[in-house]
Amino acid sequence: MFEPGQCFSLLKRYEAASRNYISFHTHVLGTVVHENTKCPVVAISIGSGRKKILITTGIHGDEKAPPEALARFIGDPGTPKLLRDFSVTLLPLMNPIGFSKNIRKNGPIDLNRHFGCRKFHRENSVIENYMNGKSFDVMISLHEDVDMKSFYMYETGSFDAGKLRDIIADDVEFINALRKKGVAINHDKTIYGILNRGGIKIVSSSKGRNLEQYLWSREIVKRVVCIETPGLIDFEKRVELHLMALRHFMKSFLY
Ligand SMILES: [Zn+2]
Repeated sequence: MFEPGQCFSLLKRYEAASRNYISFHTHVLGTVVHENTKCPVVAISIGSGRKKILITTGIHGDEKAPPEALARFIGDPGTPKLLRDFSVTLLPLMNPIGFSKNIRKNGPIDLNRHFGCRKFHRENSVIENYMNGKSFDVMISLHEDVDMKSFYMYETGSFDAGKLRDIIADDVEFINALRKKGVAINHDKTIYGILNRGGIKIVSSSKGRNLEQYLWSREIVKRVVCIETPGLIDFEKRVELHLMALRHFMKSFLY
């Protein structure tokens, strides 16, 4: 069932939160149409601090916890202070049709397999057009693995040994915090063909057609932290884990 009210009520929460910020701008990148309803694809820019960060959610419409967590994070009265030293760009709901239908795809296609693709897909092209020419220190990409009971994450980038050591130490600190909350961590040797070490996968290939690799391979983002919460655990718990991830990684990016 298509319930576009889901998309509009989520975006209204950002409108309500905007009054807590000195600098808060919403850009409508384009609209997508389904059953005669136009749904906007928006970007939001907040602040003008020295650290440039991109946060993305909602490219897969059935991964509900990330858009919910990001809306709560931005609406939290304590967040403006936390964001003081950042310039933040949000893509809070990249697949409004999928989100409103509670499906992964936008209907026919998995949008996160079609960036940099020659075929025209509206959501991909409006996002690509907006992102091209920009640059960010870090991207936080919030996803869920709907079939999993355990947590894992990706790091995308090309890191020298010293940098990689720091990144992994910080990721391990985050994963230990999850463990303390009773979250199971994925210890499979590989996940979707990529080596997994204690819930951390390192990606240094630019071949994928997902947004993370698209932006990294074009040097629009230097590093991507991608969170995959287990979709088979309680919704509120998953929202809490995404909020923890936002707070943890934003803090570690500052140093
Ligand atoms: Zn996803």
